[in-house]
Amino acid sequence: MMEQDDWRLLCGGDALRGQFLEPMTSNEINRRFPGKRHCAFCLEQMPAEPIPRNQVWFLTADAETCVCSDCFADFREYLDLQETDDFF
Ligand SMILES: [Zn+2]
Repeated sequence: MMEQDDWRLLCGGDALRGQFLEPMTSNEINRRFPGKRHCAFCLEQMPAEPIPRNQVWFLTADAETCVCSDCFADFREYLDLQETDDFF
């Protein structure tokens, strides 16, 4: 759940308003786009190592910005986030 003054919006995530993002597991993101990443909203670090249980993250078309699945669910409606599978 989120509120209008949710602290996670202070981290610049509102720049993602109306953007398309593609769901991908952290393991696949690490394999295809190596580098340290964190959620654009809550700043949680994406696991850098392959992990046994698939963890879905959402990635922008330029693969520069990641959103964790919790934040995607919380901000999807408020920021009009769109899910796509056309990028990668
Ligand atoms: Zn997050």
